[in-house]
Amino acid sequence: MTGPTTLLILGGTGEARELAKELVTRGEHVVSSLAGRVARPKLPDGEVRVGGFGGPEGLARWLIENDVDAVIDATHPFAQRIGANAVIATRETGTPLLRLARPGWTEQPGDTWHWADDLEHAARLLPGLGERVFLTSGRQGLAAFAGLDLWFLIRCVDPPEAPLPRRHEVLLDRGPYPVDGERALMERHGVEVVVTKDSGGAMTAAKLTAARGLGLPVVVVRRPEGCRRPETASVTTVQDAVAWLGARKKGSPA
Ligand code: NAP
Repeated sequence: MTGPTTLLILGGTGEARELAKELVTRGEHVVSSLAGRVARPKLPDGEVRVGGFGGPEGLARWLIENDVDAVIDATHPFAQRIGANAVIATRETGTPLLRLARPGWTEQPGDTWHWADDLEHAARLLPGLGERVFLTSGRQGLAAFAGLDLWFLIRCVDPPEAPLPRRHEVLLDRGPYPVDGERALMERHGVEVVVTKDSGGAMTAAKLTAARGLGLPVVVVRRPEGCRRPETASVTTVQDAVAWLGARKKGSPA
């Protein structure tokens, strides 16, 4: 890899946008790919394509047709399928692959966290923890909570998919969220327990700080087993992703 390179960033996260911005500034040809789930996504710098590739075969074809020099999988830690597809497609085409995933959150003094293996497990834990739930796990998979006779404040970027719990209010919003705002929101709605995925990162961490301050329990959904990709080179920061590309351009793969 010498000179400007064509880089495919599998996106849908703040880190993916930051990386695109950084690489475009450095003169690279960057194409960011979005799944197309969000109606009005925040668009990254550089070129953007939207929609699935058609499985690993479709992605492999796309890499060849577009002469891609490297793929950076900067998708959300809970997006499992696209990451697995990237592993297969890059192996088939001999394209270097880097995983950029922010670390998960860590429990701090004053936190009362209950770890759940998945959303169904989170739903089973809730009745013992509170009547009024702040559900921040995103718009997918909420059927897991549909059978619960609790009240839910459901916050997501786009309207959530049915079925939903009988008693709920939907709040359409998008981070980053300040701690004061999170605290006021929880107080206003009399929230007794918070549910979140272990997404990590600063954009949505304020809910955890606010819950700690209010002494509220938090159900944290563990990252799925499939999100670990030990066979793939991986970094946790945009800076390290840029360094990985730099090293490859100099001909010394990291
Ligand atoms: P997923 O289950 O891993 O992917 C399902 C299918 O969607 C993939 O097989 C692929 O279709 C397509 N796809 C996913 N990400 C894509 C991308 N960046 N570009 C092109 N196609 C993509 O993904 P998901 O959990 O539904 O998440 C979808 C997107 O939302 C991801 O890009 C992710 O970064 C973002 N996101 C997810 C979450 C979450 O909690 N899951 C949270 C925030 C943001 P084909 O097989 O047809 O290529």
